Amino acid sequence: MTQPTLTLNDGKRIPQLGFGVWKLADEDAPETVGLALEVGYRSIDTAAAYGNEAGVGRAIAASGIPREELFVATKLWNDAHGTDEALRAFDASLKRLGLDYVDLYLVHWPVPQRNAYVETWKALMRLREDGRARSIGVSNFTVAHLKRVIDETGSTPSVNQIELHPRFQQRELRAFHAEAGIVTEAWSPLGQGAALEDPVIRGIADKHGRTAAQVILRWHLDLGQVAIPKSQNPARIRENADVFGFSLDEADHAAIAGLDTPDGRIGPHPDTFG
Ligand code: NDP
Repeated sequence: MTQPTLTLNDGKRIPQLGFGVWKLADEDAPETVGLALEVGYRSIDTAAAYGNEAGVGRAIAASGIPREELFVATKLWNDAHGTDEALRAFDASLKRLGLDYVDLYLVHWPVPQRNAYVETWKALMRLREDGRARSIGVSNFTVAHLKRVIDETGSTPSVNQIELHPRFQQRELRAFHAEAGIVTEAWSPLGQGAALEDPVIRGIADKHGRTAAQVILRWHLDLGQVAIPKSQNPARIRENADVFGFSLDEADHAAIAGLDTPDGRIGPHPDTFG
């Protein structure tokens, strides 16, 4: 599988297609992540909160793939904001993964009511200096949260991982990312499956002889962002990785752009969650 990558603001590279593992049970992770690695995914997105870092680590170890060919990301959960808490949470994640570094460490949610995300970000900056987190970023940060981090630390997150799918396209946030040099990473890139039933998407899929999921993933890649679809089904794991042999045209892009809706959000709002 061809592995298109994007260059981060720290000079490192991130694969545009990754494998998401939310809701994957720890005991199922070795088999499912093992298959994902076998069919060509080289980037895995886990989190302390997913409870499957150990299983992901076992899959990585069993794959025999050289560490430098993999891109492993994990995230700091909402109970670990603060300097000491963040450093401890990172150590615990690394230990569960069985790795001596991660490629990307993210603050999972800003939890603004705790007002500790700037301090937490500074702890991540230390982890990057140590080289144990090669790149650092955030997740679910709004423009206001990002501006505050940048203004108060002078350091711009390399990535913001956000809810993003055809019904929730996050135009304002993506424009800010482009201006600030932050790579956009789409979580729930398939809208947790719902977007796959959309008649516009299905029409485009029929036109290209592709599936709805492949059309949506191709759309993400064309927009220049990272997408991390999750599947536990072997055929769908393969299907979601097979998105490099076709292209969408301008009419397809215009039609998908029209699917954005103000009430398209599926997950919680970053201003209140945590
Ligand atoms: P996705 O948009 O990736 O959709 C996953 C769902 O779609 C599953 O039910 C899956 O079922 C189904 N599916 C996957 N591929 C296909 C296909 N080709 N055809 C039909 N159905 C399909 O949603 P997620 O919420 O899992 O998001 C992806 C990843 O993003 C997560 O795993 C996690 O890593 C990350 N994430 C991050 C968040 C954050 O706060 N930072 C929040 C939420 C997610 P099946 O398994 O049966 O194939």
